[in-house]
Amino acid sequence: MAKRTGKKVETAVEDTSGAQTHVYPLQFVKGIGPARAAALAELGVFTIRDLFLFSPRAYLDRRTVLPLRQIRMLLAGEEGVPDQVTAIVTVKRLQVVEGGRGRKRLMIRVADATGEASLVFFHAVHFFIKSYQPDDVLAVSGAPELFGGMLQWTHPEMERLEQEEETLIHSGRIIPQYREGAKMKAVGLTSRSMRTVMENLFRTYGNEELRESLPESLVQEYGLMPFAAAVRTLHYPESEELLDQARRRMKFEELFFFELGMAVRKEITFAQEPGIAFTTRSELAHRLVESLGFELTGAQKRVLHEIMQDMASPHAMNRLLQGDVGSGKTIVALLAMLVAAENGYQTAFMVPTEILAEQHTQTLKRLLEGLPVPVVQLVGGQKKRMREELLYEIRNNKAAIIVGTHALFQEEVEYANLGLVVIDEQHRFGVHQRAQLRNKGRRPDALIMTATPIPRTLTMTLYGDLDVSVIDELPANRKPVRTAVRFESKIDAVWDFVRLEVREGRQVYIVYPLVEKSEKLELKSAVEHFEYLKSQVFPDLRLGLLHGQMFWYEKDDAMRDFLARKIDVLIATTVIEVGIDVPNASVMVVENAERFGLSQLHQLRGRVGRGNAQSYCILMTKDHYRYAMSRGMSQNEARQERKAVIRRLQAMVETNDGFRISEIDLELRGPGDIVGTRQSGIPEFRHANLVTDGPIITQARKAAFAVVEDDPELAKPEHAGIREVFREATRRAMIYADVG
Ligand code: ADP
Ligand code: MG
Repeated sequence: MAKRTGKKVETAVEDTSGAQTHVYPLQFVKGIGPARAAALAELGVFTIRDLFLFSPRAYLDRRTVLPLRQIRMLLAGEEGVPDQVTAIVTVKRLQVVEGGRGRKRLMIRVADATGEASLVFFHAVHFFIKSYQPDDVLAVSGAPELFGGMLQWTHPEMERLEQEEETLIHSGRIIPQYREGAKMKAVGLTSRSMRTVMENLFRTYGNEELRESLPESLVQEYGLMPFAAAVRTLHYPESEELLDQARRRMKFEELFFFELGMAVRKEITFAQEPGIAFTTRSELAHRLVESLGFELTGAQKRVLHEIMQDMASPHAMNRLLQGDVGSGKTIVALLAMLVAAENGYQTAFMVPTEILAEQHTQTLKRLLEGLPVPVVQLVGGQKKRMREELLYEIRNNKAAIIVGTHALFQEEVEYANLGLVVIDEQHRFGVHQRAQLRNKGRRPDALIMTATPIPRTLTMTLYGDLDVSVIDELPANRKPVRTAVRFESKIDAVWDFVRLEVREGRQVYIVYPLVEKSEKLELKSAVEHFEYLKSQVFPDLRLGLLHGQMFWYEKDDAMRDFLARKIDVLIATTVIEVGIDVPNASVMVVENAERFGLSQLHQLRGRVGRGNAQSYCILMTKDHYRYAMSRGMSQNEARQERKAVIRRLQAMVETNDGFRISEIDLELRGPGDIVGTRQSGIPEFRHANLVTDGPIITQARKAAFAVVEDDPELAKPEHAGIREVFREATRRAMIYADVG
């Protein structure tokens, strides 16, 4: 019999090379050491508090501890036994049995006062045989069975008990299972060793590190589980119900401090040197409203009122204006610009592309005809002389509204008196670029517009430091776009329809997900299909091509030609998503529509329906049933596949409401797809889920804003806990910002 070697796994891998450059507070915790501390740091776990908050990914219910005889009786009976049963037993003997084909297995015979059982091991025989010996007392957990009349566990979880009454770590209760990434395993941090580390942690630091962070009044008001209890429950839940409560508390905690950051940021902005208090009674705005051929919608009036209140106040406005494509945001923004102009201030109107700058400039000039409000346009590619002239006008207050791209915020642009900044299509600019716009002029008011409707909960997290106005009503004269989903087998009928519309004098977009053909994905590409459609399908029509890899002036040319009706059908990728307005375009065909997020499809659909004609959006998709069958999927799987694709696209047919669509999208694809990747600035939460935790987000936000309003400095004694956690979070955010 081999001699037992003790706690090998626990200590063997610690790095003692001294090559560490950091000292992690965690490395001095029993059972961790430098190598494990470094591995944990990579997961964002630095401090003892972090480790406490490192939550299990799952649990095993090992609460049922029974004598062997009773387990045997249950197994023989009607009701059977629970999946996981634990028994406390003593090892009698170990025996290696030769199986067929040279295989070995280990049988450990164990017993308690009521009977005997066998533990069977097919793998790691050498490891187990060295690890146990007769008279060891074990807690054995797993799913038992009767085999040849003998009670038996195969590869059970085992835990050696040194003394009778010792707490069980790996059995006898609901036990936590932790993440086991490759890096964690490399340093021996398996789920099992993590349980041991955690047990130590609670024993050593439990009372001191798990101080309550929130004041008692908040804990009461929101019915929260106290912090220490929640953390303990998270690792060692005594029931499902308690675990739910603990999770809710952790989510609340996480969201509360996130929103607290928003509240503090907002408070700081608010308390800084005052902004401009505009006189909002405006003759110019009045004249514009009179000259419009239509009445503002109720939503436009309401939002305008909100903006006017901000502008009249001595604090700088910081407002997000959300509204579906075509809801009439531009007019509202223009009225705000006129108020600024009448007060003697300039407006910078920033848009994402040059062609959009051009279009907005023309629109504004047309609307402002006869009013003494000079509009200029400042973009990247202008001739030097023209540019200098423009800069002169801006510097000497001869331009009241300056429309442009990023060029508006270059250093050489000096404003005589910048009072208002309007940003269109915010989602095209990185979230972080928002800060930059404030550096020009003395605290101008800021109005940020977006046509990407996002669910309220997401707005609160992404733009939590802004006030939000929503235009949730389209002008009454709009004909909703008619949307249909079509299989590719019907593509000829779709092309016939396209031709028909072109004969009627309308224009058509056909959108593909990619520029170049991608063999692997079998997706259609814009370039390839442009050639095909031009030669095979529409040789008699004028086709244009537009994609993101063209130079900007090529793109602008294509778009200009389309606008000037020199092109009937524009083959494009999603670059056309950005708000250019071609009222004569009445059909939007999207190929491989299943590849797009719903919010993106909604944006694409917004490119049509901008004129008087009835418009159509046709979402093409291959028949996923046939496709899946051809891939060797079962009939049933193939049916599921098709159902899922159609159900998602069908949402587009059922509603034209961008907010509703974004909610569905959020449920189906998560937040990243809605606001775009990378630059989206969506924070990653450990506990909270932006899709399902809407109510908790709302509560945490309300609580956090109330605390900051009551005590902006977080100086009150009852806010000591909040202050401490918040400071640490801020400190860390700054370290990250430096590194990143
Ligand atoms: P958005 O910027 O929100 O996409 P726009 O401001 O470009 O929308 O408005 C789209 C079109 O609707 C424009 O031609 C605009 O003149 C028109 N419009 C705006 N408000 C109204 C209204 N209340 N009634 C009718 N038409 C309107
Ligand atoms: Mg717009």
